[in-house]
Amino acid sequence: LASRDFHPEDTVVKVNGTKIGNGSMVVIAGPCAVESEEQLMEIAVNVKANGANMIRGGAFKPRTSPYSFQGLGEEGLKLLRKAKEITGLSIVTEVMDQENLDMVAEYADVLQIGARNMQNYALLKQAGMSSKPIMLKRGLSATIEEWLMSAEYILSKGNPNVILCERGIRTFEKYTRNTLDLSAVPVVKELSHLPVVIDPSHGTGKWNLVEPMAKAAVAAGADGLMVEVHNQPEEAVSDGGQSLKYDNFKSMMNTVQKIYAVR
Ligand code: PEP
Ligand code: MN
Repeated sequence: LASRDFHPEDTVVKVNGTKIGNGSMVVIAGPCAVESEEQLMEIAVNVKANGANMIRGGAFKPRTSPYSFQGLGEEGLKLLRKAKEITGLSIVTEVMDQENLDMVAEYADVLQIGARNMQNYALLKQAGMSSKPIMLKRGLSATIEEWLMSAEYILSKGNPNVILCERGIRTFEKYTRNTLDLSAVPVVKELSHLPVVIDPSHGTGKWNLVEPMAKAAVAAGADGLMVEVHNQPEEAVSDGGQSLKYDNFKSMMNTVQKIYAVR
């Protein structure tokens, strides 16, 4: 079902007024984690003013250490809803487990399945029974075929609205947090009809590399970008080092729009 052989036309996923796929250029921006009302509302208003199409932010965070901040849970989802009411931006947020899927889906416009859960088949099957679009991130060491097979789990349960998100893979290179595999864009477009979004924030782990890789992603034909933006990156509870400040986000938006216009 994920294969282009069986479905030659590009899938276009519609999220309220926004279309993702068939060469669109959607920007999903926001903090790594929802931290507080002031934080989220300020960021939401700013990214909206600079042209973002959707707001991101985790209420359930998959942290390497169980002692790190795990997210605000449902309180975070309520703040995302408030940010949507204020800005009109649709919500992309992560669901980490089956128990919380229905609850997260009450608030989210797009359910994100994170890299660590890309092969959580029980969660994928449940996502396949949801009426909400799913953004499926590539696993930390997943091949493109494994990633597409995970999409297949969702599609095969009846949910046709899957967006793929490349967020970097593990390699021997330590300078960057992950190695952003931009060749995944043309490869996925050849093998599949599903839209593909690039996350240069997790893909590099460094804020100063986000704009260059966002430019390259758009030039390579990505259907969108997902980037982390924070009002005070130094104070962020997670991923501050890869989060853009407002002026960086504004600059990135200007450049990628120019590239999109000529691609
Ligand atoms: C995220 O986007 O919030 C996230 C945790 O990313 P990943 O699953 O790609 O690590
Ligand atoms: Mn993050």
